[in-house]
Amino acid sequence: MEFDLIHRYFTQPFSGLLGEHIQTVPVGIGDDCAVLQLPPKHRLYVSTDTLVAGVHFFDDEDPVLVGWKALACNLSDLAASGADPLGFTLCLSLPSINHDWLNAFSQGLLACAQHHRCPLVGGDTTGAGVNLQATITLSVMGCAPEAHTGFHRGNALPGDAVWVSGLPGLARLGLLFEFQVRGLLKQALRSEQLEPTLHVLAQVPEGLKDQARQALTRPQPRLELAKALRGVARAALDLSDGLSGDLAHVATSSGVQLQIHHQAIERLWIQAWPDLVHHSDKDSLLRVLSDISYTGGDDFELCWTANALHMKQHLASNLLHTSHQIGQVVEGRGVMVQAADDTLLPMQAHSFNHFHDGGHP
Ligand code: ADP
Ligand code: MG
Repeated sequence: MEFDLIHRYFTQPFSGLLGEHIQTVPVGIGDDCAVLQLPPKHRLYVSTDTLVAGVHFFDDEDPVLVGWKALACNLSDLAASGADPLGFTLCLSLPSINHDWLNAFSQGLLACAQHHRCPLVGGDTTGAGVNLQATITLSVMGCAPEAHTGFHRGNALPGDAVWVSGLPGLARLGLLFEFQVRGLLKQALRSEQLEPTLHVLAQVPEGLKDQARQALTRPQPRLELAKALRGVARAALDLSDGLSGDLAHVATSSGVQLQIHHQAIERLWIQAWPDLVHHSDKDSLLRVLSDISYTGGDDFELCWTANALHMKQHLASNLLHTSHQIGQVVEGRGVMVQAADDTLLPMQAHSFNHFHDGGHP
């Protein structure tokens, strides 16, 4: 497509970042192929994601945030494998050319690329033909030493502890606020969930509300943590489908059972909302919030299994501080929630499946 458009929104704005990576990307945008140089004894990691307007983001969503998020969710896949970013490609299929949108999208994308030192190395730009929606496909490439395990989902072992970074469900809480603003809550929730959810949204303090919005709109891929977890974590993934869906992948691939401590999840919410302990409706609020953790996606936080002692010995204190032990790996199958009285329930039965579908707009 228009050479001028590619130059204006991609080649030119990203040229500085590309120049800083001349060792690893000797040839970037503008030639037939980009050329990437792996450090000696490293392996290449590749991940691709497509975003469709109206499906994965709102049509009228701020394009700066769309740009940031498009790269952030791809980088989160690298983090989940413990790889360092090398570069990414961008394929845009556009129904029409909107210069304001492209300019803002490019800015958001560049901000994320600069923040995580990941240059744009090439791509493709086409008209969408009869398709009415824009699609954005990113492929991100990364590398890690040959000795690195890749944190495969099948690596979890009985005796490991289950860990998360941050607060799983925070982005979903942000999405619930967004749905509320757009008058879409009723459509998105099961009818019996509407009242309890509205109650939570009305009670959440401003500070936590801001954090939830940030988690939704400016997710931070945990690349630094992922690198520090090499040699420590066994199985890892990024939380894109909620604890329930994502942990099931680990349990199935590893042939183990994951037991999540309900009180640990509640503690995470209380940590983020300390006054909750004095709230007269504490129990019902916590019930909705922990359910959001179990079923809410798009957090792009990491979840991994690792020996608890290893974690304490090898992880720097700042990273250990934001890592939380939420459960354990045992012999068996499936993902269970362990209540305060030690009773076990399948996570799927425990949580009341918050959304009709994946929760996308
Ligand atoms: P080709 O005919 O080789 O596919 P194009 O005209 O599609 O070349 O693209 C010209 C150059 O611009 C290529 O190096 C390509 O990688 C790059 N490019 C095209 N679209 C994008 C984009 N959206 N982002 C980054 N680079 C792009
Ligand atoms: Mg092309």
